Amino acid sequence: MIRFLLIALAFTAPVAFGCEFEGVSFSAKFEAGNLDNCELNKNGEYVLTFLPEDKPINPSPWYYFSVKSPVAKTIKVLLTFDGFAPRYLPKVSDDQMSWQPIAFDTNAKAMSLSLDISSKALYVAAQRPVLNSDYTNWLDSAAQTYSFEPFVIGKSTAGRALSAFTLKKPENKEWVIFVGRQHPPEVTGAVAMFAFLDEFLAYTAFNRDFLSRFNVLVVPNINPDGVAEGHWRHSLGHKDLNRDWNVFSQPETKAVKEYLDSITGNGGKIVMGMDFHSTHNNVFYTIPQDENIAPTEMVVNWLSSLQEQTAGVFKVFDKPGTSPGKGVFKQFFADVYQVHGVTYEVGDNEPDEKTRYVAKHAAKTLIETLNATPPEAFYIKK
Ligand SMILES: [Zn+2]
Repeated sequence: MIRFLLIALAFTAPVAFGCEFEGVSFSAKFEAGNLDNCELNKNGEYVLTFLPEDKPINPSPWYYFSVKSPVAKTIKVLLTFDGFAPRYLPKVSDDQMSWQPIAFDTNAKAMSLSLDISSKALYVAAQRPVLNSDYTNWLDSAAQTYSFEPFVIGKSTAGRALSAFTLKKPENKEWVIFVGRQHPPEVTGAVAMFAFLDEFLAYTAFNRDFLSRFNVLVVPNINPDGVAEGHWRHSLGHKDLNRDWNVFSQPETKAVKEYLDSITGNGGKIVMGMDFHSTHNNVFYTIPQDENIAPTEMVVNWLSSLQEQTAGVFKVFDKPGTSPGKGVFKQFFADVYQVHGVTYEVGDNEPDEKTRYVAKHAAKTLIETLNATPPEAFYIKK
């Protein structure tokens, strides 16, 4: 019992922050909220501080707070990020559903905003928040439409369920793996993944070829603790999950690795892995063709067919590279299974509609490319 309590205490989330100055109140007491300190400076500006969950860290400051005042007024707010530069452009909402960009000024270290506030809370966030409940709702709805049963592949550090689903037939041998949300603030990557999966499910339900040959494992949200806590980057276990696919020190990556081990242990063949992220611009980080992977040209073929289908709207940027020994998901597929790993990165400021359009074509063209690849091509020629 005592041990249980200690574990519970160790993993209890920090108490979410709130502050008040003569009626003007700021709060981050909601899912994914993040705000660590407030001050009112001598110029009458509210200086808000957002701290990373750990250091060192990839600086992708996440902020998400509400502000209100019994008297309607305009206030000036300075957002500061522990000396780091901002990455995300601010958005506001009065219902946490519909978000609009708002004008800002920045001096590379702080971001200043003018906010019209009233007694109804105004929300400010780095990106339109995509919460753990959005994944649950999506999964429930997709499971019903496409008759699959989601399952819990493992638990996060805080004990949250890591939801997953498979599309599989016992006679199929080849597996394709998709993972999302290793990095909590990377919402545009989540937008792409939802659209990608929607198209993937719709297309394969209609065109049965793919699922009569390939099995699929999907883990849409591998870092639910980081999402709930408003983390910049890491898991609650203080680790960048996309630097853990070599040591599997975290329950989140370990759970997926154990599942992959069960696939290969039962004679299955993993043929590709892809994970969804966001960065400054749209880019596909791929494994170079001269690495020890098979089939060498598959991803180049896929991306050129994606480029053909999205010409005029989207420019495919393929950036081959390796990151040996760093524990990157993409590299793990190349190193361990000698197949392609792809990091699907969406620009931070991409409009959702364009992201969805591209992701749908990415799904369709990937299915076509995999269908056209003979089974023996996934093995390196001796
Ligand atoms: Zn990322």
